[in-house]
Formats: sequence, structure tokens, C-alpha cells
Amino acid sequence: MDKVVEIRNLSYTYPDGTPALNEVSLDVMERESIGIIGPNGAGKSTLLLHLNGILQSENGAIKILGMPLTNRNLRKIRSKACLVFQDPEDQLFMPTVFDDVAFGLVNLGYDAGTVREKVGKILERVDLSGRENRSAHHLSFGEKKLVSLATALVMEPEILLLDEPTSNLDRKERREIIEFLQEIDKTKIIVSHDLEMIEQLCQRIVVMNRGKVILTEDREILKDDDKLKSLGL
Ligand code: ADP
Ligand code: MG
Repeated sequence: MDKVVEIRNLSYTYPDGTPALNEVSLDVMERESIGIIGPNGAGKSTLLLHLNGILQSENGAIKILGMPLTNRNLRKIRSKACLVFQDPEDQLFMPTVFDDVAFGLVNLGYDAGTVREKVGKILERVDLSGRENRSAHHLSFGEKKLVSLATALVMEPEILLLDEPTSNLDRKERREIIEFLQEIDKTKIIVSHDLEMIEQLCQRIVVMNRGKVILTEDREILKDDDKLKSLGL
């Protein structure tokens, strides 16, 4: 198995001086599903934002699919490691659902026919056919989450980066998203407070606190309530 993500001694402080990551190192293997958990403010989202270069730090190094994450490789990396934000409002900004889902493909220079075909297929897969010409803002929250996921999946990425994929969903929507993610045979890095979902989807658990990775363990750890409590969860 190949290493698809290598993070070495990554530290990051936001421009306002808030420290968010402190010497984080982590390897992720091909087709592995990793669950990143930890209390609010632990640095989980900040870490994901570094993995496709939305945030870039001077301290530490990241390799994605063997490529150093530098401005030179950014376009390539963003087409291979796709991030689904926690809040769909951060992801969806085009006038229609079609345009949102097509955006990445258009940027990569695919012709109109191919774009139409790929977008159509993926919207069918997330059960949103017929919504192409609606504005994402007029969809339910659950549907917006699915459109966000579609914007990533349409790129056929090697690595899916998911920030709280089940937050604010009702039970049915949550179950659907989990089943759907189970079917996707790609490397997944999932940040969540939803430990039940993490247990269903991930083999390995990474616990973060105060910008550090404090533990990397098999998913069995999720059954150990005392241990979770001692880790602040
Ligand atoms: P988590 O996703 O684990 O809840 P975050 O990565 O969002 O944690 O946040 C890590 C730390 O960085 C927290 O202290 C948070 O307040 C801070 N932080 C997050 N985003 C920003 C920002 N845009 N500007 C300044 N500080 C931020
Ligand atoms: Mg977060």
C-alpha cells in the first residue's frame, strides 16, 4: 500500500495570532479511512484546510500522492484531494446547482459535453437529478450537503477530505450520507464529533487536542468510554 498523505511537523498560527496546529505529523495509506476526532478548537478543520492548500504554513511539510504541497502542485493536488466543507455555504457559490458541481471540471478544461455528462451522473448518484437549474440556496440543508459532496465526487478524487459530513442532518439524511460514503472506495479523511459514524466508516482514529495529534489508534478505542473521557471526548 502507498502512502497517499504525509504530514510532517506541521504547525500553523492564524494571522490574528491564534495557534491552531502544533507539530502535527500523520501518514495516511491508500484507501484507508481515517477519523479525526477531538474537542472543539482542537485544530481538526485547520488541518483539513491544509491538506488541499487552502491554508499554507511555512512550518512543516505535506505531501499528497507523493507531491509536495507547493503552489506549483496546487492545481493538480486540488483535483486529487477534494475537500467538503462543514458548511455548504462555504462550498456553493454559483447561480445554479449545475454550475456549482461543474465548477471544478470547467476549471480543469473539460469540454461542455463531458462536463454535462459527469455532472448528470453524479447528481443522479446523490439523488438530486432534476435540481440542476435550481439555486443551491433554495435547497434544504441536507440537499445542500449532498450538492457539496457532489462537487467533490465529480472530480473522481483519490482522497476525500470531509469536515463534519453528518452535522445538522436529520436521521434519514445522516443514514443516507453514511451509506453513500461507505460505497466510496477511496481514501477518506473524516473530521467529526459523530463517533458512531466514525466507527462505521473509519478503521483508524486520530485524536487531536490543542493543535496536536495526541493519539492514533485502531477504531476499537471508540468502544472505550473511560478512555474517551480521559481524552476530553
Ligand atoms: P476544530 O475544527 O477542531 O474545532 P479549528 O481548526 O476550527 O478547530 O480551530 C483551531 C483553533 O484555531 C481554534 O482555537 C480556533 O478558534 C482557531 N481558528 C479557527 N479558524 C480561525 C480563523 N479564521 N482565525 C483565527 N483563529 C481561528
Ligand atoms: Mg471544525
